Amino acid sequence: MSVSTSKYNEIIRLYDSKRLRIYHDKARIQQEVYSKVPRIKEIDDAISSLSVSTAKKLLLSKEASIHDLKEQIAALKSEKEALLHTYFPDSSLEPEYECIDCKDTGYIDNQRCHCFKRKIIEALYEQSNLKEILEKENFNTFNLRLYKSDTIDSATGLTPLANISHAIEAANDFINTFDAESKNLFIYGATGVGKTFLTNCIAKELMDNSNSVIYISAIKLFDILADNAFGRGSADISAQYDNIFNCDLLIIDDLGTETVNTFTSSQLFNCINERYLNHKSIIISTNLSLADIRETYSERVFSRITSNYTLLKIFGDDLRIKRALE
Ligand SMILES: [Zn+2]
Repeated sequence: MSVSTSKYNEIIRLYDSKRLRIYHDKARIQQEVYSKVPRIKEIDDAISSLSVSTAKKLLLSKEASIHDLKEQIAALKSEKEALLHTYFPDSSLEPEYECIDCKDTGYIDNQRCHCFKRKIIEALYEQSNLKEILEKENFNTFNLRLYKSDTIDSATGLTPLANISHAIEAANDFINTFDAESKNLFIYGATGVGKTFLTNCIAKELMDNSNSVIYISAIKLFDILADNAFGRGSADISAQYDNIFNCDLLIIDDLGTETVNTFTSSQLFNCINERYLNHKSIIISTNLSLADIRETYSERVFSRITSNYTLLKIFGDDLRIKRALE
């Protein structure tokens, strides 16, 4: 799991402020109780001084007097309980917690609470560039009916439906083994056959499992790499540059739509290679065929992709037209 440091610090600050609010709420409630029933304050003061005495006796191993002190504390506690019950029968006397499970500390038994994990996932969505689209494009909205089962692709011998079903299986395998292995996907095919939709499905599943995902179009990717290489990097560019190399999954969409030159070619290899060496996954989606990749970029890029990527060719009708007609 990795959100940017600044985002992580923001979440930590959020929990600090929650804890502070709870602290003040508790103090306010205690004040209300004391002013209504002053005896309760006397009891609390007595309990804390007896507790100090108990601790001292413990150090001196005076078993008999410890027993006596413990009995006094227990008696005071039950007197306090009875008073609270009499004077505040219907009040909880607890602050209003946003998360009752961790009482807004973010931790349960030194483990992160689900509310803290949720905050991390929200942050992952924020930084992914995919927040809005994933509500519409995910496995629950994937429509297999858009793929034909009555035509056969001559190259593979498969119908578009059988082929996409195989691709979804491969996508699920990618998701299920994501934490254990660093795999990569190369998803290629004509415009509008559902490549980006499939990568969005994968992105959502992985982010919901607390992995950081960055979606970036090839055009934008090379802009950021160039800005960084030529020293035009603002703080924002530098954060985006870090994300490209450090996120758990990088999705490069529409590879080949950028202006290709020797710079982009070498930057693409650096990016692919560095992530490969750091065991970090990439999904590339592109209209280019493998032959195009070899011709457009370099032998090194071609070789990395063919040896380290699962190749998924998607074919079928242009779904954008089909969806519009539905
Ligand atoms: Zn919680």
